Parts: sequence; structure tokens; C-alpha cells
Amino acid sequence: MTRDASAHEKPHRRTDLLKIGLPVAALIIAALGCQALASPSPPMSPTASPSEARPMEPPGVIDEEDGVVPDGTTVFDTDVPAVTRLEPALLAALRRAATDAEDDGVQAFRVTSGWRSEDYQQQLLDEAVDRYGSEEEAAKWVATPETSAHVSADAVDIEGSDATAWLSRNGSAYGLCQTYANEPWHYELRFEAAAHGCPAMYDNPAQDPRTQR
Ligand SMILES: [Zn+2]
Repeated sequence: MTRDASAHEKPHRRTDLLKIGLPVAALIIAALGCQALASPSPPMSPTASPSEARPMEPPGVIDEEDGVVPDGTTVFDTDVPAVTRLEPALLAALRRAATDAEDDGVQAFRVTSGWRSEDYQQQLLDEAVDRYGSEEEAAKWVATPETSAHVSADAVDIEGSDATAWLSRNGSAYGLCQTYANEPWHYELRFEAAAHGCPAMYDNPAQDPRTQR
């Protein structure tokens, strides 16, 4: 940026230094410095984000039919595809657990995500890449449409610390296990958990062999 300018100025400055002595030269150098700072330099070109770099795709409407969950949805809802399209065994276990949790004073488990279409999963992945800055970081939070347990209807995200605390204490009896240490809301069915307890969690989805392609 300023290198060209100072290289250009150097011969003159040397001559001036000899002629006019140090105090004035110091002022000139200071002035030159200011000038260099003030001179317009090319702005740092921002790295284009992945979404900008990608060609525009027609904006598909992602809605409840893709698994978007309306506020207030619980595991007992019968008309929300994100819930009703879950694997029947997972949904049955969730409803059994939620019923028993209510006896312990825990409100009906609220669902923030369940089954998702591939399009919805891709949208979430694109958003995560934008948010976290790289596909590698995004993979710690969002799986691809090909590997997501939400797309295969095998995972549910439960909202509310009461519910997730209850599930972390009692879920294994129903086969309901937290899968990832960084996602206390994400539960999947592990049939063996009732007898043997839940398997060890992965740190995050990127550590899960199922998400490797
Ligand atoms: Zn999840």
C-alpha cells in the first residue's frame, strides 16, 4: 500500500534531510507519514462468502412439509410432519417418556426439530457454513442431507431444560439417548439402552462415523 509511495519519495527526502537539518526534516517525515496514512489505499477485499460465490438457486420455499416446526409443537402433535414422520418406534418412545415425565411435573416435551426433508437439511447446512465460516466448522453442528439422522427420521431435538434434564436422567429406560455432547437437545433411539444404558456420546456430529462420507 504505502511501500510504493515511500520508495518513490526516498531520494527527495534524503536530499531534503541534508539541506534543511533534522528538526524540519522530522516535521516533513511526520507530514509524509500522515499523507501516507491519509492516502486512499485499496480496501481489504472481503472474502466472498460461500453463498455469494455460489450461483443463485431458485429460492425454494421451505415450510412445514419440509419439517419446519411451528412454535409450541410437542411430541403429541398429530398434524406436524416433523413429528408424524419420525420413525414410529422413536415417536412412541418419546410419547411414553413424555407421558411419564408429566407425572414428574415436566410439561409435554416440546419439539424444535424432528424429521426434515433433504432440502431443509441443505438449507440448514448452508446457513451453518455462513455462520461458522467453513464447512469443517459447520460439520460440528449440522450434518449433510445424505447423513443427517433428522432426514432419516431417526432424531428429534427437544426444547426446554426441564425436559432435557429429565431425559438425561431417565431417557435410557425408554431407549432415548443424547447422541452428541455439544447438543443436549438432540435425542435418538438406542434399543439397547434400556438394558445397557446409553452409549458414550460423540463430542459433536463431526466425530460420528455415520456423518463421514
Ligand atoms: Zn438434532
